Amino acid sequence: MKQQFIELVNARENNLKNVNLQIPKGKITVFTGVSGSGKSSIVFDTIAQEAGRQLNETYSNFTRLFLPKYSRPDIDEIQNLSTAIVVDQKRLGGNARSTLGTISDILPLFRVLFSRFAIPHLGYSNAYSFNDPSGMCPVCEGIGKVITLNVDAAIDWNKSLNEGAILLPGYSPGTYQWKSYAETGFFDNDKKIKDYSEEERQKLLYAEPEKVKMKSFGDFNATYEGIVVRFMRQNINREKEVSKKAMKQLEEFTTNTICHSCEGKRYNDNVLSSKIHDYSIYDVTALQLNELIDVLKTWEVPDAKPVIDSIIERLTNLCEIGLGYMSLDRETATLSGGESQRVKMVKYLSSNLTGLLYIFDEPSTGLHPRDVYRLNDLLVKMRDKGNTVLVVEHDPDVIQIADHIVDVGPLAGSNGGNIMYSGDYSSLLQTDTLTARFLNKHSPINTNPRTVTEFYESRKSSLHNLKNVSLRVPKGVFTVVTGVAGSGKSTLVNEVFAKDFPDALQIDQNPIHTTSRSNAATFLGIMNGIRKAFADANGVDAGLFSYNSKGACPTCGGTGTVELNLSFMDKMETECSECQGNRYRQDVLEYLYKGKNIVEVMDMTVQEALDFFETKDIKAKLKSLEMVGLSYLTIGQPLSTLSGGECQRLKLAKELKAGGHIYILDEPTTGLHLSDISNILHIINEMVEKGNTVIVIEHNVEVIRQSDWIIDIGPQGGSEGGKILYEGPPAEIKQCEQSITAKYI
Ligand code: ADP
Ligand code: ADP
Ligand code: ZN
Ligand code: ZN
Repeated sequence: MKQQFIELVNARENNLKNVNLQIPKGKITVFTGVSGSGKSSIVFDTIAQEAGRQLNETYSNFTRLFLPKYSRPDIDEIQNLSTAIVVDQKRLGGNARSTLGTISDILPLFRVLFSRFAIPHLGYSNAYSFNDPSGMCPVCEGIGKVITLNVDAAIDWNKSLNEGAILLPGYSPGTYQWKSYAETGFFDNDKKIKDYSEEERQKLLYAEPEKVKMKSFGDFNATYEGIVVRFMRQNINREKEVSKKAMKQLEEFTTNTICHSCEGKRYNDNVLSSKIHDYSIYDVTALQLNELIDVLKTWEVPDAKPVIDSIIERLTNLCEIGLGYMSLDRETATLSGGESQRVKMVKYLSSNLTGLLYIFDEPSTGLHPRDVYRLNDLLVKMRDKGNTVLVVEHDPDVIQIADHIVDVGPLAGSNGGNIMYSGDYSSLLQTDTLTARFLNKHSPINTNPRTVTEFYESRKSSLHNLKNVSLRVPKGVFTVVTGVAGSGKSTLVNEVFAKDFPDALQIDQNPIHTTSRSNAATFLGIMNGIRKAFADANGVDAGLFSYNSKGACPTCGGTGTVELNLSFMDKMETECSECQGNRYRQDVLEYLYKGKNIVEVMDMTVQEALDFFETKDIKAKLKSLEMVGLSYLTIGQPLSTLSGGECQRLKLAKELKAGGHIYILDEPTTGLHLSDISNILHIINEMVEKGNTVIVIEHNVEVIRQSDWIIDIGPQGGSEGGKILYEGPPAEIKQCEQSITAKYI
């Protein structure tokens, strides 16, 4: 059969320079290139975008009203597209009722199994659902947790009632609510709460409702109840939903605790006592997936074989992609980006559709080098079912299995956007592209690490899978924490160590929560300097150069867009016709600084701005962006358009100043080309030279090799992990027999 291609003619989205490209169908194509070179602009902003748009066009006008809106990408022509499925790293999120069991469609199969074969059994499969009134625990309504008042947040133990010991809103001395405690005669209003007797404390906090006489209420009978009891009645145990806003205000006073009735199991007693071979439906969801498979294989239930086999098949798929350390009761909101992507992958793998176009965004994120082959197997399986697989990836082991490689470059932003190479792996290695150069080269092990003298040590912990271990981090050096996915790295570093050292700065990949008005310049705090430069040059007010203030375009108010309200249609945002999206009042653009107006300056890349500005402070901050590999961003680029890796590096840029801190970075190489990794290493070393302690959770072998100190956790994921296998300099890890990481260094 003749090879078919997806064909792009003159793609110009973002930085693409009239890209022409042929992508073989039914094959695995990996897109490589430095970050900012234009990979996503091709794969997501052009191919996936156009596939989505073409699919939408096949629906009726009415149906389209309910679908996401796709605009046409900037390209002359695309031929031969198939329906595209984007499997990205957006976290699965979801509410407290969404678990790995529900999202993987395995829990419904267990419900069928239990409704038919459990003893004693109840009939309908809904009765085995914690989301159904007939199956849920009545106290927590299937959530497994309840919200209670956090007494330590609500009470200042060092104060008396007269001094305002009750910190809840509406309880300050003299208020009606305060009197209902202070005027009961139960308490000495000048006695500090910490000096109360046990009885007094019980009365103040937990007393059940009773009638009392209170003087300011004219000696009328009033109802007295403890602070916790009243708080729960007013805010938590209500039929009516308390407004989100009110709940948000009370958040600092509440904690989530395990439901005392079901002990966090979510189900009611009927469900929990209904069993197959001594296991309730809760018991199976609490088991680690690889252990659950072993248990199911021992189940001899006549007639149930087809359902059990089907469950085992799905569980096996999850284990094969390296998720065997999870359990079905794990809430999806607690999964990392990489874990979320792998769960989504498995879902699609069990589909029998063929001829689709699957698109992955750095699927190796979060995977130990040992497990990358599992990912490769999965990509190959998807291809062999007759699908086209496109992958944006930096990991050399994934690049190696590609049928076809598209290398984008040569550099980032306006210096990128060209196809440097399109062909197979072995010929790529013969070229002189940045990618080829780094694929051919490895950094040596750091045999001269910094001297270790003192340590920060966390408390011992058994959280999640940890085996009563503490983390000992050497001060003032560069430490990497390694181990297979699920071994306990995040738990030990982010949940235990970081909580013991609250001044440790966690620089993560979460989006930077800001308004649509924030950009790289406002985030780094260089806007004031820029506005002042314009104001001084023109002898006018600096506020004119802010679209949040006097400089705002009067039509759109400085947002650059206006909302169209068309009947029968969703609200649509379109570019403001007055300012053409640049957000400024048009007369402001007449003021120039060094021959440029404010909009032209905001459109400069960091690189260009570095040459343009002379102010020391502005230059220093721009320099920090350059150092973290973000010189291709325009300084006015909205933060909402940045990827997770870019957000992390932007936060890093902001922190590159003082010494004496502890920094924690979680996979800082995400989204980075092999050539950018030396920059990150450079930054880390510079931070350490300034007297900081840097802890990095990382799978990238180049980074691990270059550290001063390795802490390896394992040996496996889940219950077979959670131990510290090795702590010491990189060169000696080879001697640690148990360590899987050692085999890859
Ligand atoms: P890669 O995927 O290779 O990291 P991208 O395709 O994301 O690179 O980015 C290529 C260029 O386009 C970069 O200069 C980037 O800043 C720019 N860019 C990407 N998305 C947007 C956007 N939504 N608005 C403006 N510029 C963008
Ligand atoms: P790593 O960072 O090495 O990938 P984690 O610390 O995320 O490992 O996980 C270690 C173990 O703890 C795994 O068995 C994982 O399923 C479990 N775990 C992690 N986070 C949670 C959570 N929020 N709730 C329950 N279990 C968790
Ligand atoms: Zn409960
Ligand atoms: Zn406008």
